[in-house]
Amino acid sequence: MNVADSQRLDVSLERMGLEREERIEAADVVVVNTCVVRQSAEDTATGLLGRLGKEKLDDPDRVIAVMGCMVGPDHTDLKRRFPQVDVWARPQEFQPIVETVGARTGLSIEGCLANLTPNQPDVATFVPIVHGCDKFCTFCIIPYRRGREMSRPVEELFEEVTRLVERGVKEVTLLGQNVDSYGHDLRPRVDLADLMERIHEIDGLERIRFLTSHPNDMSRRIIRAISDLPKVCENVNLPFQAGDDRVLAEMRRGYTSGQFMERIDEIRDTIPNVTLTTDLIVGFPGESDAEFDHSIRLLEQVRFDKVHSAAYSERRGTYASRRMPDTVSRDEKKRRLRVVDDLQARIQSEINADLVGQHFDILVDGETRGRLRGRTRGDKLVYLTGGGPALGDTVTTGITGASPWSLEGDLRATQTQKELVKTK
Ligand code: SF4
Repeated sequence: MNVADSQRLDVSLERMGLEREERIEAADVVVVNTCVVRQSAEDTATGLLGRLGKEKLDDPDRVIAVMGCMVGPDHTDLKRRFPQVDVWARPQEFQPIVETVGARTGLSIEGCLANLTPNQPDVATFVPIVHGCDKFCTFCIIPYRRGREMSRPVEELFEEVTRLVERGVKEVTLLGQNVDSYGHDLRPRVDLADLMERIHEIDGLERIRFLTSHPNDMSRRIIRAISDLPKVCENVNLPFQAGDDRVLAEMRRGYTSGQFMERIDEIRDTIPNVTLTTDLIVGFPGESDAEFDHSIRLLEQVRFDKVHSAAYSERRGTYASRRMPDTVSRDEKKRRLRVVDDLQARIQSEINADLVGQHFDILVDGETRGRLRGRTRGDKLVYLTGGGPALGDTVTTGITGASPWSLEGDLRATQTQKELVKTK
């Protein structure tokens, strides 16, 4: 979400006449786009602001702007701690930054705030469709910082994705903190399935993905749409966060592990060859060894293609930080993370080993150390050898090797080019 926000502010500042400067020390305007989902991310941002504040004493003309999740509705305390910052802006609130930069540089800001579609987008790019979250899980700071859910209208998104495709985009990932609740606040009410159907009509767009889902809002209609719309990739990220019902209740996730498993079964029954990823927190306040084992059991049962695991970290301002002492020690959290990582390394290496010898449509979306890389529709990262295709091409490639985290594809094992969009 932050990458997408930064790309859009970039467009705005470029329209004013500013140029990109990668070296922070050489920039006349510095925008720090902050993430505070974990304490370590917030500490990184405050460390940088401290450094920039000191440098500003020697360079008072430099404009320092801070945007993103660090800036809550009341940021009086931040203003006091970092008096050298010129402007504070909440997530997606570009206007105060643009106005401040305009006033300080004398550049006109006319036409700099509308239709902020990235000029040179990546082949696979992010499109925020719903901002904020109404869920208020007890451990999460996001609803306090990003506010309540606000969906963007379907036609506005259709036009933005059309412009992106005209600029070379082949794949979009529709983003929301809870993407499945897209459209519930719009009148007339629509949902993610309606949006995917509309975007699906855009010629030249090959793939549609979406992130992040919530088990309670991933409706049968959305699951059907993933299965029925050929451009929607058969890959679902469904966070479970904990496998124990008491812990889930303390987290206020709104489902039990049994209900989560029912949703997984429904997805697998409806979408052939679907790949599944998830998010998991270990060491939530009060989580016992036995309760942690329930998370492990769920991982073994589902066999996810990837797990984003994190140790619980207290976020000031959340319900959990006020009411639930952080009882699990740092060492124990590390141990639990290692158990999850080891288990997943085994599961993922077994899943990926089964893919060797099969062929997949791979959208080439980047290069790492001189080698092209791409992703399957199931979001498996594939490093390619053999040369030939260019960024943005889709190639049907044989898988020749596998590790828990990626696959190897040899373009010489490429079959005749299939339809770019696989018919389901
Ligand atoms: S659904 Fe996600 S973003 Fe919303 S409160 Fe829960 S964890 Fe945070």
